[in-house]
Amino acid sequence: MKRRKFLKSSSLSTAGILSTSLLTACETKKEQLPVTKTIKPIVIATWDVPNATNKAWQVLTNSGTALDAVEQGVMIEEADTNNQSVGKGGRPDRDGNVTLDACIMDKDSNCGAVVYLQNIVHPISVARKVMEDTPHVMLAGKGAEQFAYEKGFEKENLLTEKSKLEWLEWKKTSQYQPIINIENHDTIGMLAIDSKGDIAGACTTSGMAYKIGGRVGDSPIIGAGLFIDNEIGGATATGVGEEVVRTVGSFLIVELMRQGKTPQEACEEGVNRIISKNKDKLDFQIGFIAINKKGETGGYCIHPGFSYRVYSEEGHLNNTSGSYIST
Ligand code: ASP
Repeated sequence: MKRRKFLKSSSLSTAGILSTSLLTACETKKEQLPVTKTIKPIVIATWDVPNATNKAWQVLTNSGTALDAVEQGVMIEEADTNNQSVGKGGRPDRDGNVTLDACIMDKDSNCGAVVYLQNIVHPISVARKVMEDTPHVMLAGKGAEQFAYEKGFEKENLLTEKSKLEWLEWKKTSQYQPIINIENHDTIGMLAIDSKGDIAGACTTSGMAYKIGGRVGDSPIIGAGLFIDNEIGGATATGVGEEVVRTVGSFLIVELMRQGKTPQEACEEGVNRIISKNKDKLDFQIGFIAINKKGETGGYCIHPGFSYRVYSEEGHLNNTSGSYIST
């Protein structure tokens, strides 16, 4: 087996941003006000998605919750037909059907998910309705679609002309076989901390392009594609979902942070865990991002092209040179 070269470029964990502002200066002879912590909001997302992080940042800086921020942030990508791996415009399965997966998780460990959802532009909002309006965590296929209509979502054709033409082209040479590592899949995963210090996350995708009809990846699976523990932090994944599911990747990363690892260290170990299960074949992409309760961030990927975006009071940073492993 070819020995792999491990490259680690600049580690771009964002510096801790949870600060304590001493609002206690008002000391009078009669009373002393308590120390008040000022939590600085932050949002982090997989890939270079400035429109999505800008939207989430607007929500956070208008005193919005982390939950609203991540939902509204990823909705930008779901509606953007230029993004062919999420929402409307997403690449279809091998039969030409666009099927979407998404999940969302809040500060109280409430969660909701939809899998194999068709004809609805915003699966993340349907996932939120599952979380808030039902006793369930996950709805699938026709049931999820029917639920969406009951909640007022409108039916829409998600297959754009561009994605349709590409699919028809793929069919000419594909022999109708999905290729697991075909580099035309992605996900937007987003994590945020609001001004109260609460954490939430969202994850949404159209999954692997030209997959077998019915295939579902990691993105809508709580613990795999996304996990939040408001006491510790959150993590979310992008890449070949089959591999993320095998290691319950996002849950693993949050647990590693619970044990004291930084978000960067935890993401690296999460990726390394997957590598250790694939010693003979490492030709696929997996990336994780994570955030901890202090507002520190990290990201790591098996692919050199990985980037993730962080937006905090320190500015808007696209970590295009984030850590990666070159195979
Ligand atoms: N994780 C997604 C899936 O497996 C695809 C991706 O992020 O590339 O469906």
